[in-house]
Amino acid sequence: MNPEANKNSSSSGHNLSGQVALVTGAARGIGRATALALAKSGADIAVNYQHSRDPAEALAGELSTAGVKSVLVQGDVSDSAQVNDMVAKAEEALGGISILVNNAGITRDGLVMRMSDEDFDAVIATSLRGAFLCSRAVARGMMKARSGSIINVSSVIGRRGNAGQANYAAAKAGLVGLTKSLARELGPRGVRVNAVAPGYVVTDMTSELPEKMKEQIMGNTPLGRLASPEEIASVIAFLASPAAAYITGAVIPVDGGLGI
Ligand code: NAD
Repeated sequence: MNPEANKNSSSSGHNLSGQVALVTGAARGIGRATALALAKSGADIAVNYQHSRDPAEALAGELSTAGVKSVLVQGDVSDSAQVNDMVAKAEEALGGISILVNNAGITRDGLVMRMSDEDFDAVIATSLRGAFLCSRAVARGMMKARSGSIINVSSVIGRRGNAGQANYAAAKAGLVGLTKSLARELGPRGVRVNAVAPGYVVTDMTSELPEKMKEQIMGNTPLGRLASPEEIASVIAFLASPAAAYITGAVIPVDGGLGI
């Protein structure tokens, strides 16, 4: 085997050294696992968090142990001015952003007849408007560099719908349209845009689900279990990497077969 072949590859098999990734909602769950997976491949990380700084600082400590640079950028992804500010801070500290992971998201579940205007709007604002605002804020730099990768975190629910989650399903389906439109707009400028569509993942977001519902979900999942955040993160890291250089506009299910 030619030892030169692997000279630049990292322990994860992808080489992202010299790249700068902004991960939204990075302090916990899938975002946290994604920040660590991208760092394992050598990317420097801008850690976006909204409210509590402590978990973001703890993550920054782990990123430093992994041997990459990081910066904490506080901000609400649904607020245009805060997004522009956080992108400017990230670029000032680490250089031009070449990877954006639109991960921040919330749920405000309820049956449509009882869902408030506020609960509908809040979910759309975080997941969908947030991804739009962050993508717009980094797109100019990526187009100028004629390279970059944006990954949106959608959901199996965006494709299948779910009683009690009309707002969430609409936001996640909206992300698919955003992904494909951005892929068409930015592809000619060398920027790839993809999405992952996870099934149910063991995070704070799903910790409140009743045991009975979890069992039902596992029963409907060919692989018979929920996902770990790392199993979503590894696919995001792949999509960000040169190994996915010819993939754009794709929505990759990472759902153990739930969406079949
Ligand atoms: P989580 O609740 O653990 O993490 C969500 C993160 O987003 C949190 O750190 C939160 O602070 C942040 N956030 C929320 N609103 C924000 C805002 N306005 N600005 C900035 N940050 C904000 O949930 P998770 O399970 O890790 O989910 C991450 C993403 O994956 C979400 O988009 C979610 O919809 C999606 N997803 C999760 C699952 C699952 O089963 N957990 C399945 C499919 C998709």
